[in-house]
Amino acid sequence: MPDVPETVGTPDGSFEFEHRPTTDQSFENALAKARNGTRLTVDDAVELFTTGTDRDGIDHFRKEQVLEAADRRRAEVVGDEVTFVANLNNNVTTACNTGCLFCNFKDRSEQFRSDYQEDHGGFTKTPSESREIVRDALDRGIYEVCSVSGLHPALALDDEHREILEASDRGDLNYRSPDEYEKDPATYCEQLSAMNVGDVHLHSMTPEEAYHARRGTDWSYEEVFGRLKDAGLDSVPGTAAEILVDEVRDVICPGKIGTDEWLEAMEAAASVGLDMTSTMMYGHVENERHRALHLQRIRDLQDRTGAITEFVPLSFVHEETPLYERGMVDGGATVDEDELLIAVSRLFLDNVDHIQASWVKYGDTQGLKMLTCGADDFMGTILSEEITKRAGGDYGEFRSFQEYADMVTAIGRTPVERSTDYEQRRIIDPDADVLGPQLGPRADGTPLLE
Ligand code: SF4
Repeated sequence: MPDVPETVGTPDGSFEFEHRPTTDQSFENALAKARNGTRLTVDDAVELFTTGTDRDGIDHFRKEQVLEAADRRRAEVVGDEVTFVANLNNNVTTACNTGCLFCNFKDRSEQFRSDYQEDHGGFTKTPSESREIVRDALDRGIYEVCSVSGLHPALALDDEHREILEASDRGDLNYRSPDEYEKDPATYCEQLSAMNVGDVHLHSMTPEEAYHARRGTDWSYEEVFGRLKDAGLDSVPGTAAEILVDEVRDVICPGKIGTDEWLEAMEAAASVGLDMTSTMMYGHVENERHRALHLQRIRDLQDRTGAITEFVPLSFVHEETPLYERGMVDGGATVDEDELLIAVSRLFLDNVDHIQASWVKYGDTQGLKMLTCGADDFMGTILSEEITKRAGGDYGEFRSFQEYADMVTAIGRTPVERSTDYEQRRIIDPDADVLGPQLGPRADGTPLLE
């Protein structure tokens, strides 16, 4: 079988991926392997994602069989607990010129320059502003700060990196001096040091940001992540993964690092002792074989590192993105595809314990349904959630512990507050009066917000 998917040309010179790839496997065999716990191949995953390549469309009876196998596996691996973490999103800047076609989080960095006159909706935070936000959230009881930002041209890793960038006469480094901007984002290390308040867990620096933090140098990713760790970094978000197949990346994010470099950066993060998460952003131009190849690359990475705490499927939100506005996609994944993505991830990733259902992407009702399709984590409280909102998502910005407990118990499962690494866990009694976080360094059980 071909290892990469088939593509077909279109008259305007662009191309689409053949949907409904073929395999030498049968759905029945793939399902039998999934049920008995045999490690699945890419072809097996394609059969499960498509509910059989021998049929057109989704076969709903077969889909239920896949979901049931995944739900049973979830129960075997992690039991009935549904976890979530008290966290804050503090993204430093929306300035970014990378031009990913699925993204509406960024603003062209020219708009942030001091000489730019018009209003724009973007933001940049100084380290002291970041510190203020984190300090306030820590007092409220959060455990984790998640920080993922645009690749602002003035951002450097640290002072030494800034000196190298200032001295360089290369024109291809996506660098400009902070003096040229209305607001100085400082360096990655200064931002992390500023956010590193009172034992909070800092979850930040995607492989793409790490690439930006070493541009123009010959520093290894180990060197970069080592310095970030010294500045306070605790774990790394496995975002910017999108689909880890280069022919898909070439279409949706040609300005981003390739699959091999993404994997190299993640391995380096693990090698200096950082935990990490993993993600897949699906439901745009890719087909089921791309999704399966992506899962294989995550599973292989976990075999090599053992550092991945969870897998987070991210269903593409198409509104207000260039991919949609240019007519390259006409929508995102269907509900059937979302459910199968969760289920096949649970069955394929036999070395990753936790699969997350994102209420920001799916909404509350469908997010809860995902907890019966193989997922066991219901993400975080998210005191601020700019990314999905700016791409047209409709599902709000914050969930209280009360809401979590009510939703999780309503489907007969056990709500559990967790730490980022899942090592600390606290079962929540939904009948108790006080339903605030208790694991954060300053958490005392009062609700995060009034
Ligand atoms: S996904 Fe990230 S790197 Fe790509 S344009 Fe958006 S903010 Fe920039």
